[in-house]
Amino acid sequence: MKLKIKSLCGLKKAAIKEHFEEIQLLVARPRYVCSKCARVAGCGSHLCKARKLSA
Ligand SMILES: [Zn+2]
Repeated sequence: MKLKIKSLCGLKKAAIKEHFEEIQLLVARPRYVCSKCARVAGCGSHLCKARKLSA
């Protein structure tokens, strides 16, 4: 699956609305949390300061 968005961090409201289906897939099974923005993702490359979830 080719992703259209690069990072969950700093996404604009309009972009979140436009790519909501894709965003749901990225956050459905969170393994990383951004230590700067508190966003979560299954892959660290979608966060600006990714940190592995320990829980
Ligand atoms: Zn971030």
